Amino acid sequence: MPITRLSNLIDGRLQAAVADAWLDVFEPATGKAFAQCPDSDAADIDAAVAAAVRAAADWANTPLEQRARLLQRLAELIEARLDEFAALESRDSGKPLSLARQLDIPRAVSNLRYFAAAISAWGSESHAMAMGSDDSGAINYTLRQPLGVVGCISPWNLPLYLFTWKIAPALAAGNTVVAKPSEITPCSAALLGQLSIEAGFPAGVLNIVQGRGARVGQALVEHPQVKAIAFTGSTATGARIAAAAAPQFKKISLEMGGKNPTIVFADADLDDAAMDTIVRSGFANQGEICLCGSRLLVQRSIYQAFRSRYLARVQALRTGDPEMPESNLGALVSRAHREKVLGCIEQARAEGGQVLCGGHPVTLSGRCADGWFVAPTVIEGLSCTASTNQQEIFGPVVSLIPFEDEAAALAIANDSRYGLAASLWTQDLSRAHRFAARLAVGIVWVNCWMLRDLRTPFGGTRQSGLGREGGTEALHFFTEPKNICIRY
Ligand code: NAD
Repeated sequence: MPITRLSNLIDGRLQAAVADAWLDVFEPATGKAFAQCPDSDAADIDAAVAAAVRAAADWANTPLEQRARLLQRLAELIEARLDEFAALESRDSGKPLSLARQLDIPRAVSNLRYFAAAISAWGSESHAMAMGSDDSGAINYTLRQPLGVVGCISPWNLPLYLFTWKIAPALAAGNTVVAKPSEITPCSAALLGQLSIEAGFPAGVLNIVQGRGARVGQALVEHPQVKAIAFTGSTATGARIAAAAAPQFKKISLEMGGKNPTIVFADADLDDAAMDTIVRSGFANQGEICLCGSRLLVQRSIYQAFRSRYLARVQALRTGDPEMPESNLGALVSRAHREKVLGCIEQARAEGGQVLCGGHPVTLSGRCADGWFVAPTVIEGLSCTASTNQQEIFGPVVSLIPFEDEAAALAIANDSRYGLAASLWTQDLSRAHRFAARLAVGIVWVNCWMLRDLRTPFGGTRQSGLGREGGTEALHFFTEPKNICIRY
């Protein structure tokens, strides 16, 4: 099959990198290259930023209805090609096609629709001041103006989902955008770029530059005309971006790694649906979701019974060809990532952990014989300080940890340098409120997981994040408030 070459989108035109250099793009399920994406560099970023600067004033002055209409139109075009997008996303990332169809692509459509609606309904504040008995006073009103050109950098695990989660609020708020998808999963963003032309976005409003992070991502962060960077990815990269952005006092929003606890109390209502959700919270998308619960804390009084029910369910998960509807887990995103995950499992063994199931690569036959698969793995017997319970593995690996009581559970849950999300399972309402308030994370789910309302603040604490996305938080990030005080 011929190798497809993807394009950058710069100034309304689809084009190769200035240097005409290319990176291979692999299908994780087969281990074979199936596309090439531009290996762009600072020259492409310069061209994209220049185009975005030229488009900025007109876009900022475009009526809200028109901006919203274009976002809606883009959403419609993606929705009309949902199957094509889902197949591409699955092929590019290794995730089950069923997941791409049910989660990734519909959510990308919702992101665009949500921010089209949100900007249409958005207002700003005013504050009246009384200044004495003579009816004199002042009125303050706050303008929230677009920043100009902003950079959006996204990771490989939920490619189109997280790409649109950034570009939609940035564009809705009136900024022009230079976006950089992950070089590991560039395909769906490239197709979105094509559709943005069809949707009618003016040239330069949305620019997409493909390529390697250290080169093209870094050039975007360092560019003096880029006013803000919205980033999702690893904590190590987030630290690099923060260091590069600081001397220019850029606004940054960082969504980074996690080591999320799932906490199951003895009083939880663990019916089949709850057990399925708890299993999904560890293994959805092969565990390659920042919100996955990789530390599963279970109250000791139910530990043995829970463990056998849980293991039976995990062992029933099927790792297979992502195209097959019966596959619950697909391939890990890259050979290097699979090696990393297998290395973490070896480390868990070396630390004294018992591997209760999985713990090995999965070799399939047929077209997936050279794919990068790892069996869903459950480990127990490790202390909270073991590296397995401290470092982000970002794969299908869950560590079981028993606890005695609420105080112990809280101490274990918070014993992390990360603080993204937690999922809490209990029927005790008072405990749910008390515990949720004390968890050092940005997002808590009680008796559920990954139930998302796009209006809510999204993000983490500690080394998981800086700032919040979602709802008005995102619109605040992508605008500069200006207060105007008028005395009368
Ligand atoms: P990564 O940090 O390697 O890459 C993320 C993006 O940053 C990619 O587009 C990459 O090219 C770019 N990049 C790399 N180096 C750069 C640099 N020096 N300057 C600018 N950009 C650079 O992350 P990844 O491996 O693609 O994604 C997995 C990580 O993302 C995990 O740690 C996961 O927890 C995290 N993640 C977090 C969230 C969240 O919302 N908190 C969501 C999804 C993924």
